[in-house]
Amino acid sequence: MLETVKTSNLGYPRLGEKREWKQLLESYWRHEIDDHQFEIAAKRLRLLNLQKQLAFGVTHIPVADNSNYDHVLDTMAAFNLVPERFGSYDRPLHLSEYFAVARGTDKNVPADMTKWFNTNYHYTVPEFDHTQPRLLDNRWLRYWQEAKDALHIDGKPVILGPVSLIKLGKINGTYVTEADHINTLLDQLLPIYGEVFQQLAAAGVSWVQLDEPTLVQLTHANEVLPYQKMAAYLHRVAPTINIVLQTYFDAIDPFEAVMKMPVQAIGLDFVHDHGENLKHIQQIGFPKDKILAAGIIDGHNIWASDLREKVQLTKTLQGYAPKIWLQPSNSLLHVPITTKYEAACDDSIYHALAFADEKIKELGIIAKACNQQDVTKALTKNQQALNHLKLAPFRHHPNVKARVNALDESQFKRKSDYHTRQKIQAAALKLPFLPTTTIGSFPQSATVRAKRAAWRQGKLTDQAYDTFIASEIKRWIRLQERIGLDVLVHGEFERTDMVEYFGQKLGGFLATKNGWVQSYGSRAVRPPVIYGDVYYQEPITVDKSVYAQSLTDKPVKGMITAPLTIINWSFVRDDITRATVQNQIALALREEVLNLEQAGIKIIQVDEPALREGLPLKVRHWQAYLDAAVAAFKITTTGVQDQTQIHTHMCYSDFDDIIDTITNLDADVISIETARSRGEIIAAFEQTHYTKQIGLGVYDIHATRVPSISEIEANIQRGLQVINPKQFWVNPDCGLKTRTEEQVIIALTRLQAARDRVVLKH
Ligand code: GLN
Ligand code: ZN
Repeated sequence: MLETVKTSNLGYPRLGEKREWKQLLESYWRHEIDDHQFEIAAKRLRLLNLQKQLAFGVTHIPVADNSNYDHVLDTMAAFNLVPERFGSYDRPLHLSEYFAVARGTDKNVPADMTKWFNTNYHYTVPEFDHTQPRLLDNRWLRYWQEAKDALHIDGKPVILGPVSLIKLGKINGTYVTEADHINTLLDQLLPIYGEVFQQLAAAGVSWVQLDEPTLVQLTHANEVLPYQKMAAYLHRVAPTINIVLQTYFDAIDPFEAVMKMPVQAIGLDFVHDHGENLKHIQQIGFPKDKILAAGIIDGHNIWASDLREKVQLTKTLQGYAPKIWLQPSNSLLHVPITTKYEAACDDSIYHALAFADEKIKELGIIAKACNQQDVTKALTKNQQALNHLKLAPFRHHPNVKARVNALDESQFKRKSDYHTRQKIQAAALKLPFLPTTTIGSFPQSATVRAKRAAWRQGKLTDQAYDTFIASEIKRWIRLQERIGLDVLVHGEFERTDMVEYFGQKLGGFLATKNGWVQSYGSRAVRPPVIYGDVYYQEPITVDKSVYAQSLTDKPVKGMITAPLTIINWSFVRDDITRATVQNQIALALREEVLNLEQAGIKIIQVDEPALREGLPLKVRHWQAYLDAAVAAFKITTTGVQDQTQIHTHMCYSDFDDIIDTITNLDADVISIETARSRGEIIAAFEQTHYTKQIGLGVYDIHATRVPSISEIEANIQRGLQVINPKQFWVNPDCGLKTRTEEQVIIALTRLQAARDRVVLKH
């Protein structure tokens, strides 16, 4: 006899339907509300989120998945693990102390942030250098109690497991990977997790969701040992607590070893697992004594599921695991909240969208279907919606498909090799020794933002808005000339976001009204939706670059966003391969690059900041991803003449693993963000003997403090120890959009002065 299928959620978006949470944080930071007012409003939002899930009929509702900033930071704060510079505590941190870690203070730079696995969410990186963990605040118990008192929900506290917490953190600036370090830290952390679990047990908590996402990154069974030790310990100290050991974002390789862990349920991703979790279950089986928490709805994309297919999958799974919970594949943190504000978009798209709320409803329907309840109507509606989208004429552009299919060698290669190009470019551009430039964007002042808002609301005409943007471009061309920079940029004032802007201009993209997703802290982004074949409609950036170039004799660098960054920061259709979509984008951008060249732009930067972060979680999938990324970049950039100089820019550290890829892109110049781990990057380049031109950022734009001329000079000198001076460019390490105008002018003036000093000494 089959048990009834239950539903469960892994985490609910924090932002609020209308980004109330964002506004709340920001008004607190602006001191418009005090702690007490903040707490009241935050509680209201937390309960609202729970109430919704209750109304949707979720059996196991997550609690403590909420956060005032980031769940890793919450864990660090609860366990006295914030970086030492922010103090050591023997009581729960005050809100202001908590935010100080996240956002920095006059005295302290904020704790490091980095991408959460392969998502666009950023977590706070734990630093384990001076660890004296102790339990300051059992937030899991607090929020469980809150849900119980206010809504009679017996919630499922969500806690980041100790082994993943350790592996997400750093010792001495490098990620914790060594077994010794992991074990030592685990021994320190286990008693604290034990305390948390015991308190939960005493309060009567029945289920805890223990997230150990790093399990999907293991290759060998012996790497499971620390997880096993952890689970055994928790089971011993809090035997009445049922644990669902939760994984997501990919399959588990050492499957058998993980299945043996002493927990009551195991959460597996059946969407982003390349089919492997199902294969394991079919070949190895699923433990009879455990519940299978099956992640069958895509928690990382915004399309409605094929419900019939999901019912089928659930039935298949039931053959191996009679007790099932149906879940999204991962926390719904990574998708927007509700589609109800998107009704203005085309009907055939609208009905095929599913954000967090719709996904939770889908789970309910599938569960009902599996529990022998009649959901024919819902299933039919779902089939119709999917069919409409599938057949929608705007989804298919035969020309685009034909061009992708017709791609041949010639579209992946520059006309000549780098050596030849370099000579031609040097003669054409006549740049000085150690040329200076910036990465593209300049500060978007309050005036820029106000004008854009007015224009969007229809209070400013297109023409007036364009005139304003032109005046900013002109002002900044003059400023750059005055500072003395060698290669200028137009400043990107017309773009709120480097992906959104291209999404608005390319065919096949849809901008959502309210599809916000948390990126970090109160920062939210609205990823465009790629719903159809992507095509070039009209020039995107040409007029701005051409205008900027008309104002100066110095070369102005054109500026576009590359395919992988566009696709990684968008929601992508899932009926054709990503590689196909990438190549479609690349072919469209190739036209833009050629149009820029045609219009007299001699240097074109193709930004690929998100190439590295899109790396698959498993190393064995890297090569395919990187090959496709290189292909798309080359399609975009190789159509130009030898004398046109192609630049690219990348953010973030850890370049060791992709240094070959960087070489393969065959860009003439690359600029790289180095602020966060200068040493490692320099070492990486030392070993490869990179032969093309490179700008290792010499001014960390993330620091609020502007470095002195000598500091910048020292950074240049350090770079010159590993890079041939003839290949070296001097530039800040990322775009300057978020800095103040005053800061940027001082910083760039010093950067220029530092360059001049180095030149004199050379
Ligand atoms: N050209 C972009 C800018 O300067 C690059 C942004 C980025 O690296 N993320 O803003
Ligand atoms: Zn950058």
